[in-house]
Amino acid sequence: MKYLDEFSDPVLAKRLFDDIRAITTKPWSLMEVCGGQTHSIIRHGIDQLLPDGIRLIHGPGCPVCVTPLEIIDKALEIASRPDVIFCSFGDMLRVPGSGRDLFQVKSEGADVRVVYSPLDALRIAQENPEKQVVFFGIGFETTAPPNAMTVYQAKKLAIPNFSLLVSHVRVPPAIDAIMNSPDCQVQAFLAAGHVCTVMGTREYPALADRHNVPIVVTGFEPLDILEGIRRAVRQLENGEHTVENAYPRAVNEQGSPAAQAMLADVFEVTDRSWRGIGMIPQSGWRLSPTYREYDAEHRFSVTGIETEESTVCRSGEVLQGLIKPHECAAFGKECTPRNPLGATMVSSEGACAAYYLYRRLEAPTANAQAANAPDASTQAASAQAANAPAKEASSVG
Ligand code: SF4
Repeated sequence: MKYLDEFSDPVLAKRLFDDIRAITTKPWSLMEVCGGQTHSIIRHGIDQLLPDGIRLIHGPGCPVCVTPLEIIDKALEIASRPDVIFCSFGDMLRVPGSGRDLFQVKSEGADVRVVYSPLDALRIAQENPEKQVVFFGIGFETTAPPNAMTVYQAKKLAIPNFSLLVSHVRVPPAIDAIMNSPDCQVQAFLAAGHVCTVMGTREYPALADRHNVPIVVTGFEPLDILEGIRRAVRQLENGEHTVENAYPRAVNEQGSPAAQAMLADVFEVTDRSWRGIGMIPQSGWRLSPTYREYDAEHRFSVTGIETEESTVCRSGEVLQGLIKPHECAAFGKECTPRNPLGATMVSSEGACAAYYLYRRLEAPTANAQAANAPDASTQAASAQAANAPAKEASSVG
């Protein structure tokens, strides 16, 4: 395959749907870890076209969604200072904190800027030596290396007025926490392919063994996802629990040694809170002692801010796969992408936003499920792909 659209080929999609249907004898629950995978599944209608009993649970792998409320409040506090230029990817500006979001702070006169790379923020720091320039560093193992590289560059170039507000999280401890939850219904994981591009697959065999759970590293296009589902279902049907790489065009066992070395130099593993989920041990990164002087939380003394989650928003249950977005009473009413109550409605990768965008406004009826035929699959996939909007630059992964 040479071009990306070949990974949406309807003939091959039908063949994979047929294969999945042929090997499925029991109901199974699979979790796709990444919000990008959730978006693709909902956009192409894949979940509606699988055999009855194959359930996809949408996981917590949207970086915007899991950034904890107290970090948003710390960002708002720092951005409000007159001596600060606060830089961020665009999708963080509408994420609600306890009372406001970064757009409101910007409208009140704060210097909040959207950038497309942390290196843009470093350049702004060089151009504005009289100002403190802060970059909002959020995301998974995919965005952590460039942020680490930027801090490394700041130290190397002796740029004292740059700092990083860090909220990086790691996928394997989250999988561990999900499997340890007493409410866990997940029987197999579609692991996030882009994360494994950086980190490789070596962290996963121990998890698969410990929890007797198949883990299939999966990409983001429709055929990638169908192949991941096919392999996971085949393992479940055979009583296996191994790690498989269904995304070999991007992932190998080692990942990127250069990126991992940069992470190990600049960051150290720490406990992290996940929005709506809570503290997960060893699930994040913070700046290592060598680079601690570039930590915005310490530079601006905002470590003491504490918050409480909204009682209306059920994003924590959405992020753990315990409910679907349309089971939240506020979905599509008080909470819409224009007026989001929770982070899962803000981000383009959030499950609530994906359900709203692709008009999953209520649970499917029995009649809709009965229409689950192979021919319908290719038609729906093609139609939904044709209607899909372009994706904005964001804090992917
Ligand atoms: S629909 Fe809105 S209020 Fe409900 S869980 Fe999603 S983000 Fe929260």
